[in-house]
Amino acid sequence: RGIVPENHPRRDSILLRERLVEAMEKEIVVPQGLIAHGRGECFDYLIGEKTRDFAQIAIEEAAALLITAKNPVLSVNGNTAALVPTQLVELANTIPAKLEVNLFYRDTVREIAIEKALRQAGAKEVLGVGEDASETIPELFSQRRRVSKRGIFSADVVLLALEDGDRTEALTRIGKKVIAIDLNPLSRTSMKATVTIVDNVTRAIPALKEKVMELKRDPERVNRILESYDNREVLRKAMRYMAERLNQLSLDL
Ligand code: ATP
Ligand code: MG
Repeated sequence: RGIVPENHPRRDSILLRERLVEAMEKEIVVPQGLIAHGRGECFDYLIGEKTRDFAQIAIEEAAALLITAKNPVLSVNGNTAALVPTQLVELANTIPAKLEVNLFYRDTVREIAIEKALRQAGAKEVLGVGEDASETIPELFSQRRRVSKRGIFSADVVLLALEDGDRTEALTRIGKKVIAIDLNPLSRTSMKATVTIVDNVTRAIPALKEKVMELKRDPERVNRILESYDNREVLRKAMRYMAERLNQLSLDL
């Protein structure tokens, strides 16, 4: 594949694209996943490709929810398996939480390819593949979605990324706490989730692992965090940040 010069100003972004294209060749990612990534890149540009304070607040809440959950599940799709497989496995081990493959465009070949990627990254168990996805969750517009009985079906807290709005709503409607990582604070997923981390999965997943480790040593802080969280305020902060940053950049021209 093409060599990206070390000093290219957009090097990291180009390498992520290459990673997704390679994952598409391995049948982990579908073409629609590339489009979704492009939309994410645009919002990442607006926040300056850094984890901002509105994301930090949500990451702290997410870590507290995951630590105190009875059955926390990390939902994995093609893009997240391509971008952060090792980091997802490390996060799952640290909490501890289960890993479940859950796709918008369901397809057994791809489920198996994603399971393989997670196992290569060190996962001992991967739920939601083939027959394991035997339970259904009623959804508004898409087909009934199939999930694992020991995973998302019985989970109290579900972490997902690059998710669709209707699917997010379906999970919250049946009482799950949903943590969404989504660079677009305007998406329906961002609006419907219990906790919205407006950040790139490549930064948010490792940051979440660090926060889980930190909070495990400080149980009293976990309770304080859980009492005071307001997701609407977090979304407002993200939108305001984007607007104000653009305004500042226009003044600096
Ligand atoms: P919704 O269905 O929630 O209204 P949408 O239809 O606009 O969202 P989808 O294509 O369903 O968007 O989901 C992709 C979402 O994931 C987009 O909001 C995009 O900003 C976000 N996204 C893409 N790449 C990343 C990434 N690397 N990290 C975090 N979020 C990302
Ligand atoms: Mg959508």
